Amino acid sequence: MKKKKHVNIPIFIPELACPHQCVFCNQQKISGTVEAPPPSEINNIVNQYLSTISNNTNVEIAFFGGSFTGIPLQLQEEYLIEANKFIKLGKVQSIRLSTRPDYIDNEILDLLEKYGVKTIELGAQSTDNTVLLKSGRGHSYDAIENAAFLIKKRGFDLGLQMMIGLPGDSLEKSIKTAQTIVKLKADNTRIYPTIIVKGTALEKLYQTGRYKPLSIPEAVIISKAVYKIFEDNNITILRVGLHPSDELTEGKSYIAGPLHNSFKELVMSSIWKDIITEKIKNSNKQEFCFEVNSKQINYAIGYKKENIEHFAEKNIKIKFKSNPLLSKYQINDCSN
Ligand code: SF4
Repeated sequence: MKKKKHVNIPIFIPELACPHQCVFCNQQKISGTVEAPPPSEINNIVNQYLSTISNNTNVEIAFFGGSFTGIPLQLQEEYLIEANKFIKLGKVQSIRLSTRPDYIDNEILDLLEKYGVKTIELGAQSTDNTVLLKSGRGHSYDAIENAAFLIKKRGFDLGLQMMIGLPGDSLEKSIKTAQTIVKLKADNTRIYPTIIVKGTALEKLYQTGRYKPLSIPEAVIISKAVYKIFEDNNITILRVGLHPSDELTEGKSYIAGPLHNSFKELVMSSIWKDIITEKIKNSNKQEFCFEVNSKQINYAIGYKKENIEHFAEKNIKIKFKSNPLLSKYQINDCSN
């Protein structure tokens, strides 16, 4: 049976008076330029989206942008009542939201459960206490573990987002974070490289030489390692890399760091480069034809043909053919 299409209706709720000082976050930018729509607006926003969504689609209202459960309980409830009306009408199937790990307790979960929230995404960022401290997150790993435990125990879907390249972070620590996210039984994740945004504490650390952002190749290597851990453990990877359309580039708030429009493609290309290298390592042939899954062929060829060129530099010519019947990373030799 064909899988139902899934559409999120995003509603951006920046946490207006966030008391935290995460080094990578420019709160002024968040709270100064983007206003949360009042609860009374939710009806219009959702109806507008619904008018563009075809039937037979799984629709979810997604409260994103800040720490939803950090806003006053009464206001949370007002938003949830509006969203829940659409669930009752059968027009929307569920609600998801993002928040901080230390803004989860049973009272909050009671409220979210009452109004049909299905998925709670926590910005875990790292599970390493030194990284959390250096990043000014304002909580330790215990908060992540407690929140994840409560969320799973209460039957919600758990999202645990992570960042790579935070102050004090390393490849090993990122791998450990991904392994811990697996251990905490997350259902989904997002992988975000740390970038330096204007007006943040990280910008000051960078300007004074106390923080060095990852280069794009370094970010690709780390992302690839954690991507594979999530994939091997059947954790849905909802995103790799930041949204290219961010006000970051348009609003000129980007200072430095691994920001790339096709970051996920770079990561997938690198995964395929490894697969091909492994496949040809014991051969002394110089020309190959490989069949790969149709959805993977562009990644196998590489971003801007980088894999083809990488092997061409070693005098190895590779041709790819697509085959929809192959599994994701299957590679069949079709050389004569
Ligand atoms: S990233 Fe940190 S500082 Fe920024 S809004 Fe979220 S919790 Fe507050």
